[in-house]
Amino acid sequence: MADCLFCGIAAGEIPSTKVYEDDLCVAFQDISPLAPTHFLVVPRKHLASAAAVTEEDAALVGHIFAVIAKLAAEQGFADGYRVVTNVGALAGQTVHHLHFHVLSGKELGSFN
Ligand code: 5GP
Ligand code: ZN
Repeated sequence: MADCLFCGIAAGEIPSTKVYEDDLCVAFQDISPLAPTHFLVVPRKHLASAAAVTEEDAALVGHIFAVIAKLAAEQGFADGYRVVTNVGALAGQTVHHLHFHVLSGKELGSFN
């Protein structure tokens, strides 16, 4: 999608520090990390947020979680990490291309 930051990063048109990529998704370091490990995983397909996911995207979303599990094991933080996706401005979403934050390396606190 034109004028989308994460479409640009996924396509390699906008620079990023990639940690993984395949035909379906790309993972790259967050520019403002909130934890020692903080990268984002995005589908190459433009979806505005998790609210735009349909059954058609089931395999894609499952693949992204499998990639996250693989990276966690490879990078040695599989014992504790958080996966977050913000939906809408009220939840703090600032980039309107579906992305999963992967955070680890410090005490992350509780949501509840
Ligand atoms: P959101 O607030 O939408 O859930 O998360 C957007 C994330 O994208 C933020 O954590 C922010 O630091 C990150 N971000 C924004 N612009 C860029 C950029 O140009 N490059 C990278 N690597 N991350 C970015
Ligand atoms: Zn996009």
